This record gives sequence, structure tokens and C-alpha cells, in this order.
Amino acid sequence: MDLNSSLYSILGIGGAFAKKLEKLEIFTLKDLIYHFPFRYDDFSKQTSALDAQIGEKVTLMGEVWSIKNVYTRFGKVLTQAIFNDGSSPITLTWFNQSWLTKQINSGDRLQVSGKIKKYKNKLSIVAPVWEKIASFDVSSYSTSDVSIQSLHTGRLVPVYPETFGLTSKWIRTKISRILPMFVDSIKDPLPDDVKNKMLTLNEALLKIHFPENWEDIDKARERLGFDELFFIQLFTQKIRRQWKNKRLVSPLKINMGKLKELVESLPFKLTSAQDKVLREIMDDLEQASPMNRLLQGEVGSGKTVVAAIISYLVFLNNLKVLYMAPTEILAFQHFDTFQRLLQPFGVEVGIYTGSRKYTKGKGRNVKGKDEKLHPDIIIGTHALLSEKLLAGDVGLVIIDEQQRFGVEQRSILRSKAKVPHFLTMTATPIPRTVALTLYGDLDLSIIYEMPKGRKLVKTFVVPSKKRADAYKFIEKKVMMGDQVYIITPLIEPSETLTTVKAAKEEFERLSKKVFVNLKLGLLHGRLKSKEKEEVLNKFKSKDLDILVSTSVVEVGVDVPNATIMVIEGAERFGLAQLHQLRGRVGRGEKESFALLFPGIEEPSLVSRLKNLEKNFNGLELAELDLKVRGSGEIFGTKQSGRFNLKIASLTDLPTLEKAKEAAHSVLQVDPTLDKYPLLKAQLADNQAAIMPD
Ligand code: ADP
Ligand code: MG
Repeated sequence: MDLNSSLYSILGIGGAFAKKLEKLEIFTLKDLIYHFPFRYDDFSKQTSALDAQIGEKVTLMGEVWSIKNVYTRFGKVLTQAIFNDGSSPITLTWFNQSWLTKQINSGDRLQVSGKIKKYKNKLSIVAPVWEKIASFDVSSYSTSDVSIQSLHTGRLVPVYPETFGLTSKWIRTKISRILPMFVDSIKDPLPDDVKNKMLTLNEALLKIHFPENWEDIDKARERLGFDELFFIQLFTQKIRRQWKNKRLVSPLKINMGKLKELVESLPFKLTSAQDKVLREIMDDLEQASPMNRLLQGEVGSGKTVVAAIISYLVFLNNLKVLYMAPTEILAFQHFDTFQRLLQPFGVEVGIYTGSRKYTKGKGRNVKGKDEKLHPDIIIGTHALLSEKLLAGDVGLVIIDEQQRFGVEQRSILRSKAKVPHFLTMTATPIPRTVALTLYGDLDLSIIYEMPKGRKLVKTFVVPSKKRADAYKFIEKKVMMGDQVYIITPLIEPSETLTTVKAAKEEFERLSKKVFVNLKLGLLHGRLKSKEKEEVLNKFKSKDLDILVSTSVVEVGVDVPNATIMVIEGAERFGLAQLHQLRGRVGRGEKESFALLFPGIEEPSLVSRLKNLEKNFNGLELAELDLKVRGSGEIFGTKQSGRFNLKIASLTDLPTLEKAKEAAHSVLQVDPTLDKYPLLKAQLADNQAAIMPD
């Protein structure tokens, strides 16, 4: 039996409990041990009923004099006990727990914890936590430096994430039984010099669940939080090293003359930020080892142009380029852009998506067994990398807006002897600290400024009493020839059927009741790509005035004539995400607006949204999200899954730095980790969870 053994056999519990545990993502012994408390009730104050202050949280020890159920007129059950700790009898009351009379009998000695109250001149505790004294076999604990005298009372009592039918008390009881049995078999993977003055892993695990004081909790969290960040660092830095050691398909030369020609053909001058990242990328392209770079820049900052320019440079080396977009819509859009920019320079551009494959080039062959003609640059969706297109003459792979920043895609390449350069692009503003940690395997380039003349999108948080006015304003603008996006709320974390249903209902309501004379279209993620394309084309060609959509448009569509972005249920989105959404308007000459409708008008939510009225910097907004709502908000549900942080915080710079240096020094000494088998094993474990392959 080890830490990865299934919990059910060990606990001897049945299917019902198993299902509940699954809800908490607890399957194995280890999962249970790593199910950490999210807070503690301080019941450490042992006192007597007489000495206790009214309103104070205390623990009393005494005897049950009587206990009975009382049925109220409204069909509720109260369980009432008279309890005496030797100083004064007090009343204990529980609601709807009639079974307690079977568990507690008069004469039982109990320890109870809760808030002391006075009612009709009598002392009482409502809904106290309780346990029988000496219900606990202290002798079975092998590690005696943590005393577990009582479990649910009279101490700092851990409170756990719960689910229906699985209380903290239940979880606490199980952990108290299991942890002491296994804790000594958990080997500390940290080398001594990394661990330094921190607690050992065993100590930390015992203290996070059964602390004697607040300092224990701090120390346990310090160690366990460090581990989380340290293993992320170890993971990303190891990948980084492996990638750097790969052989490149073919070294490249930069043709500065041709580069200049192309840049001068553009209808605009590159911003200095574009210039800078272009230089960073070209530096990489000239190296003998493969590039692995993350290009970050807000929507509209000009990433696509940069991608097109470097694709051209690769083309000039007689190598091919694959460009992977997250959606078909975007693939087609980039296909157009690339054709427009590069066809005049003799570059053939192809498209490859689920619904359309245009990969026939004029003259060059794909190497491999089924030879077919292959254009110089192919733009496509996911299918792109899984196909034979990824032949030996591909010199550059570009991944645009990939949720997981190319981890999966790179793992396809990992098995190859020689790899192409790799560029990942994202409009998601990632605070620098976060990028350096979670994406420490990538080099980072940031386009920090927008092309000149871009107008700010005037943004307003609209209270519900102004909704009718807002609709009038929209109608007026449409009459003047403008177009509008209306984003419907994200009901669930990802675009589920519920979200789609809400979008359909809103579409119906708006078409029939609000904008009766206007032409509306509906777009959501469950439409077939042909249907999506149709709706979008209608919107582009002005056959539609208003596009009602789920947040799928976030990563798509460029319609300069659209000037108003309405976002319903705005409080459900992160600030950075809202910022990205409003970036869909303000792309043309006309003045543009973002109207944010909160679904709940709670002051704290509204004031958070109001940040958007004055702040137009995506990175700063992302930092705010990070502070207010944690990292999940930045990466969306899909991305936060890459690493699961239970304790560590991505705003904790000192620990981030410490973990980074520690991982670096370990890998410096021993890149393969063969000298640290425990680290290696743990890393492999984590890796399997992150990158199943
Ligand atoms: P991103 O991919 O970062 O969202 P794009 O490359 O699609 O941005 O650029 C957005 C728009 O801005 C495009 O219409 C593009 O032609 C234009 N653009 C790009 N770079 C510049 C620039 N330096 N000056 C003016 N307009 C630019
Ligand atoms: Mg783009």
C-alpha cells in the first residue's frame, strides 16, 4: 500500500462516499493528505462556562446531564442538551440533527467548542462542535511531536473544502487516522540545501492539518507552498533545457535586404515595440538551437504582422511555416492577411482546417511517403500539427492564442530528432511574475505599445436603470451605420449548453422586444463552423447590424465598422478578459464604446468593473485580477489547470524567486536529476498530470 493507493479500499468506504470524494477530486491516499484546510477555527481557548465572555469562541469540557429532541410547530427538530462543566450548566442546541440523541447520551463526557451566548439569562452554545473525550487513541500516533489530544474541539480546528454530505468533521476524522499511519513513509524529496530551514515534508503535512498554534500553520504553508512553486520551476526549467539541447531542422540566415523590402511595402510603419520583438525573434532564428518564445501583445498590437514578417524570413531559407490558429474563423482571417501581405513576394499560402483544406502548392513537395504539393506557409487549426504537414522541411511553427501555450504541440515535436523554431503568441496579458514562473520554459517578448492613432474605447459600467437609454443609444448609432456586438454572460466557467441557451434567449428577447427593426445574428461555440462563417460574413458585409454572441468572439473577428461592445453579466469576466473583449471595437476610424452591464449590482463588483472606465492597459488590469481574484481569473478555467496551486500565491515574489533559484541550482548540478531520485519521481508524477502522453 502506498500513497497512490485508492482511498476507498483503505477507508473501507462504499460507492456513495466515493462519489462525494470524487467531487473534491480525492481519489488516492495522497489526494486526501493533500486536501488542505482553507481556514482554522480557533477553539484553543479552554475555559469554564462561568469565566467565558459572551460572544467568545471557547472550548468547554464537561458532562451531559440530559439530551432530547424538541419538535417545533414548523416541523423542525431541535436537539437540546444540558451540559455542565462544573462551573455552571449551559444549554447546547443543534438544528436538524435528530440523530445526535443516538450518538450522545446523558452521562457522556464531552468537549464542546463554539460561541458562548446568553439567551433569557441562560448561557448557551448554538450548534457547537463536539467530541467525546478520549474518543481518540493517542497511542497509535507514531510522530509524537504533534499532539492530537482532541480533534474537533479545544484546538485550532482545521476547516476543509467540503461537499454535500462530506463535512469537515468527517474529513478531519479520516485524515487524523490516515496521516499518522503514513506520514513516516513519505520521503522528503527536497535536497537538504534547498530545504534549508524549512520544515521537513512530514512536519509540514502534520502541522497543516493539526497545528498547535498559528506559527505552525505559517511554517507548514511556507514549506508546502514552496514545494508547489519549486516543482513548477523544476518542470519548466527542465523542459527549457531539453528544448535548447534539441537539434534544429536547419539553421537560418536572415536576408536583411528582403526584410526591408517587405517592411517597406506595409501600409504603415512598424511600432518601436514591434521592431524590438522582431529583433528578439530574429536573434533567436539565427541561433543553432531552436527558438521557444512567447510573444505577448494585446489584441490589435500587431502580432500577426510580426508573424507574417518572420514567416517570410523563414520562407527565404527554403523552409516552410505552419501557423496554428485557435479557431477556424481566425485561421481564415489570418489566411487573408498573409495572402495579402506575402503573395506579392511570391509566397504561397495554404489553409488547413476541419472544413477546408487547401494545401496544394505549385511546385514543392512534402517529404514523406504520400507526396503531395505543399504551399510555403500553411495556416490552420488544431489538425495542422497532427497531420503529415509537419515534415522535415518545416522551419517554423507558430501557435496563436493557444490555451496551453504550446505545451501539447511541443510534445508532438519532442519525439523528433530535429525540431523547428517555435513561436507562441498570446493576447492574454500575463503579469511578468506569472509568465516567468508558470511559463518559465519560454523566452518572453512583449509588444508593450499599440500602433499610434488607436482610439481608446470609451467604457461605461451601465446601471440597470440606464439600460433603456443604452438601447436607444445603440439604435441611434446603428441608424448612423455603426455595428454592435452584444456579448451574453458566461453562465458556467466554459461555454456549456447553459451558456449557449442563455445566448439564444437573449437573442430572442433582443430581436423580438428591443431591436425590432434591426437585423440581428447569433454566434456561439456550438454552431458548425460553416454556420459561424456565414453569420460572421453577414456581419462583415453589413447584412447584420448586431451580432449577439457568447464570448467566443474574444479571439476572433476583425470588423472595423463595429463600434459598440455590449457585455452582459460583465462581473463574471476577469478585467483583463473584458479588456480583450472591448478590443474588438475601436478598430476603425470612428469613436467606439464598451457598455458593461453587471448582472448583479453589488458595490464591490461594480467598483471592480469601474477600473475599466479609466484603465486601458491590459497588463495592469491582469495584475489587478491577480490581486483580487487569483490566477484562475487570468488564465481562464482551461489554463489554470496547467498547475494547481493550493497554497502558493503567484503574487508572492520572494518565494517565487527562491523556488526559481533553487530549481536552477539543482538542475545546474544534475540536469537529469539522477542524483535526486525522489525529485525525479515526483517530477514525473506531476508531469504525467500536466502533459498526458
Ligand atoms: P494582433 O494580431 O496583435 O491582434 P494585428 O497584427 O492583427 O494585431 O493588427 C491589428 C491591426 O493593426 C491590423 O489591421 C494591422 O494591419 C494593424 N497594424 C499592425 N501593426 C501596425 C502598425 N505598426 N501601425 C498601424 N497599424 C498596424
Ligand atoms: Mg492576432
